Amino acid sequence: MNYKIALIKGDGIGPEVVGEAVKVMDAVGKKYGHTFTYVDVLMGGCAIDTVGKSYPDGTAEVCRACDAVLLGAVGGPKWGHSTDPEKRPETALLSIRKDLGLYANLRPAALRPALAEACPLKKETANKGIDLMIVRELTGGIYFGKRERYQTEDKGEEAADRMAYSELEIERIGRRAFELARLRRKKLASVDKANVLETSSLWRQVMHRLAQEYSDVQYEDVLVDNAAMQLVRDPGQFDVVVTENMFGDILSDEASMITGSIGLLPSASIGDTAPGLYEPIHGSAPDIAGQDKANPIATILSVAMMFRYSFRLSQEAAAIERAVDAVLNAGWRTADIAAPGQQAVGTIRMGELIREKI
Ligand code: NAD
Repeated sequence: MNYKIALIKGDGIGPEVVGEAVKVMDAVGKKYGHTFTYVDVLMGGCAIDTVGKSYPDGTAEVCRACDAVLLGAVGGPKWGHSTDPEKRPETALLSIRKDLGLYANLRPAALRPALAEACPLKKETANKGIDLMIVRELTGGIYFGKRERYQTEDKGEEAADRMAYSELEIERIGRRAFELARLRRKKLASVDKANVLETSSLWRQVMHRLAQEYSDVQYEDVLVDNAAMQLVRDPGQFDVVVTENMFGDILSDEASMITGSIGLLPSASIGDTAPGLYEPIHGSAPDIAGQDKANPIATILSVAMMFRYSFRLSQEAAAIERAVDAVLNAGWRTADIAAPGQQAVGTIRMGELIREKI
């Protein structure tokens, strides 16, 4: 098969980690008989420098004509100060998710056995194993609601952000989560704040209706404050966790920390029809950009997710994951995951080692 992939290399370490991921993709293609055609797409700070806006016209159309999108990272201090939304790299991230209808963000957080010592939790907690998937609603809720600032009569200026969720939005993310749970350990925790928020009350009502339909999946409601606590107390209890946009933003960062390094974690954003977007969870790491220090594993594992969820190539996805584990088990580390005093390899060498194991 031939697959067409849009590459948004972006800023900072983006081009370095995407470069290694592309070489891994080509190695997998060679072994399993697939070819990949790449289309470079300009987005983020580099697009501001080149065409004056972070999300150039036609970006979504180019991506829609591809089978999947691989994104490195966008942003950096150089572009952090503009108040013009067109000149802010984050605008591009929100726009592409919205334009491609990518309403489900999948973030696995798994503790790789070779890196158990990097887990900041108690040894007995880490030893139980951590392998969970956070499914975050990505195109609704407070990040997309109306924002306001106005003067009050007696309290000075006031600001407000509106949070809204429709049944349709909740049901489609809920179905994604139940389907995923079916492919994993058949457990789903739905996180909300139904004791306070009306949006959460509707969320819970829709999830309960779906839970009856997916009766083979063990379902539970968890309040968001309790979920934050349980993630550090006993993360092994979770399989799939589904939640709304802002709660998911916070909880998925928390989950990433308990697995050691942000340089290891991939993510997928998917919708119903458009190509999925795959990216490492980390940002553009301007502090180490251009120094051959970035860990390319999160981006390489994002390719594994692309193979599994967009192309249904589960054998090829597993080959990438096995290669990563083999390299880590053999003791190879980039600087971010090396123990004190342990020798580290650079971005390019890490990519090469993984390709050798494919
Ligand atoms: P960051 O993830 O870029 O970096 C945080 C820390 O982790 C830094 O010390 C960095 O060196 C390290 N790090 C990150 N990725 C690494 C890797 N692959 N290997 C080794 N070390 C790694 O987060 P930040 O510093 O808060 O943000 C920097 C810029 O990235 C900002 O402009 C931010 O807006 C942007 N950002 C973009 C995305 C995205 O494109 N999806 C996501 C988050 C942040």
